[in-house]
Amino acid sequence: MARIGFVGLGNMGGPMARNLLKAGHQVAGYDLVPAALDGFAAAGGTRAGSAAEAAGGAEFVITMLPAGKHVREAWLGAGGMAAASEAGAVLIDGSTIDVATAREVAAGAGRPMLDAPVSGGTMGAEAGTLTFMVGGPEEAFARAQPILAAMGRTIVHCGGAGAGQAAKVCNNMMLAANMIVTAEAFVLAEKLGLTHQALFEVASQSSGQSWALTSYCPVPGPVPNSPANRDYRPGFAAALMLKDLGLSQEAAASARAETPLGAQALALYRRFVEAGQGDVDFSGIIRMLRGG
Ligand code: NAD
Repeated sequence: MARIGFVGLGNMGGPMARNLLKAGHQVAGYDLVPAALDGFAAAGGTRAGSAAEAAGGAEFVITMLPAGKHVREAWLGAGGMAAASEAGAVLIDGSTIDVATAREVAAGAGRPMLDAPVSGGTMGAEAGTLTFMVGGPEEAFARAQPILAAMGRTIVHCGGAGAGQAAKVCNNMMLAANMIVTAEAFVLAEKLGLTHQALFEVASQSSGQSWALTSYCPVPGPVPNSPANRDYRPGFAAALMLKDLGLSQEAAASARAETPLGAQALALYRRFVEAGQGDVDFSGIIRMLRGG
């Protein structure tokens, strides 16, 4: 059993912290929103009065916050968590943020720090089946592994500081482009008089195969639990995909990598979100591509 500080008890952090409690850890939590803290306390967590208080005395300190600016401020700002943490603590940020901020915070923390973004969404957070992509020192990774294992199923050490965020933005850029081209193929099939099922049966066994097709099919029918079967309720909201595509384009610009399809995916998801579809599952972009 470990003493853990957990800051950011929202849609992801809330269930993740509850899974740590279920695994028998002692967790002190903090969130700016009182209702999030109430839910955590009702599950047996200890309320902290501030982020710094949650960090003090913990062996592992975890954040699950919206974006890079929140993460920088929470760890390195006035009354920050890094300074409040024990010298021997392992610091873990599970938020999805830009690679540059992840590296800056790790360098400024003065303690071993891991960037550990996740995939698997709120369902994976509830079920404790998240995938963690981890960057940071080997020794801190080894110590953190049993803690991460209480919240996730697949835990991959990707390299040094920022490598977890790098893996996340690369993966989601592939996912977005795969989803768009899969949706385009279904729209083309419709115009050519080919049924959804026929295209699915061929492409899922052929070289057009992808996770976007076989696990998350953007038309109803072939994959019964994909969001297309429930009018594109998320799942993974388009606004979150747009955020991740922004991060991958930022990373590409600073690393001088050519990512023309990533840029196009960003432009299309921006159009979709600006049309008021931010809360819709990202596979719902097929409706925009259909022109309806
Ligand atoms: P959320 O908005 O539901 O939760 C964030 C929480 O952080 C909120 O409760 C907010 O009050 C709290 N917070 C913000 N600033 C704070 C501060 N200074 N101190 C204490 N609490 C503070 O967001 P979420 O969906 O839980 O996402 C968290 C992170 O996980 C994001 O980076 C997101 O991109 C990433 N992520 C989300 C999903 C998903 O499906 N929701 C999937 C993978 C990754």
